[in-house]
Amino acid sequence: MENCLFCKIVNKQINSEIVYENDDVLVFKDLYPKAPVHLLVIPKKHISSIMEIEDLSDKQVNEMLKTIAKIAKEMGLDRDGFRVVTNTGASAGQSVDHLHFHILGKRSFNWPPG
Ligand code: AMP
Ligand code: ZN
Repeated sequence: MENCLFCKIVNKQINSEIVYENDDVLVFKDLYPKAPVHLLVIPKKHISSIMEIEDLSDKQVNEMLKTIAKIAKEMGLDRDGFRVVTNTGASAGQSVDHLHFHILGKRSFNWPPG
C-alpha cells in the first residue's frame, strides 16, 4: 500500500535489518528497541491490524504464527520467556497501521502491561 512504512520496508524502498523472510512474512529489527531483543513480524500483504485478519489466507496466518515461534526459538528466547504483542488502535499505542507482532525478549516484563 502506498505511503505505508512497513510496505516500503517489504518492498526494500526503506532499509531495515531483516532477520528472516519468506514468501508471506518478514521479520526485522525494531528501529527503537524496547528490549535487548525487539523484532517485528509482519505479513507481506498489507492489512491494517489484526481486525482485518480475515483478509489473509490461512497459509499467511499460519506462516506468521509459526515464524514467531521459530524465530523465538532460534534466538533462544523460549528458555527464559518472551513477550508477543500486537498493539491495536490508538489507545493501545498502535503507531503503524500495518499488522505487526512485536517479539520482545532478553529482559523481564511486568504484568499487567502499562
Ligand atoms: P506500534 O507502535 O505498536 O504500532 O509499533 C510500531 C513499531 O515500529 C515501533 O516499535 C517503532 O519503534 C517501529 N518502527 C518505526 N519505524 C521503524 C523503521 N523504519 N524500522 C523499524 N521499526 C520501526
Ligand atoms: Zn503496509
